Amino acid sequence: MPKLLLFDIDGTLIHSNGAGRLTIAYALEKLFGTCGPLEHYNMSGKTDPRIITDLLTAIGIAPKEIKKQLPAVYELMAEHGQRIFIEREMLACPGVPELLTHLAGREDVLVGLLTGNSQLTAPLKLSAAGIDPLQFKVGAYGSDAMDRNELPAIGMKRANQLTGSVFNGNNTVIIGDTPADILCARAGKATAVAVASGWHAASTLADYHPDHLFDDLVDTELVVQTLLAE
Ligand SMILES: [Mg+2]
Repeated sequence: MPKLLLFDIDGTLIHSNGAGRLTIAYALEKLFGTCGPLEHYNMSGKTDPRIITDLLTAIGIAPKEIKKQLPAVYELMAEHGQRIFIEREMLACPGVPELLTHLAGREDVLVGLLTGNSQLTAPLKLSAAGIDPLQFKVGAYGSDAMDRNELPAIGMKRANQLTGSVFNGNNTVIIGDTPADILCARAGKATAVAVASGWHAASTLADYHPDHLFDDLVDTELVVQTLLAE
């Protein structure tokens, strides 16, 4: 049975050095004249539309108006990202390039993304960290749903459509660095693999009982064995 591996981006594949926050600030200030309480906002594991909606409703903008403006916000975020991602020195997380190279050589694996980033921003961030976005054959993005827990089903459906194989919770693995990634894997009845390469300590992630927990993705052989276990 082929396996679908859906990777989170920030804190899992790459370190973005606060660049995501800067793109949100840029876009919201340009469109709304303010980025709301962004400075004190915890973005960890949240989708872009969730973050944008929280920040703007906090300053009294109606959700309906925010929803209408989301595509314009994504455009501006990507536009700014294109300028700043390279200079922010985004880096691939340890072991990630080696792991992706290994996975690309396997026919029993479909590698994809499950990220809170919009579909426009995701490839820009990956490229800036030296990771070829084209190696991810499917994706479920923040621009697809505000609730991260809806993204597994979207990723699986796209994988089904692309390959004709059946992907569901039984043969899908979701890899991420936050409690929200673990909960979202549960929502999709998928296998939850947590990696403490982001902001959350392994002990924090352990509290959410992922199926597997790594400090990092450096041990390619062990990680592959775990990701592809039946
Ligand atoms: Mg993350």
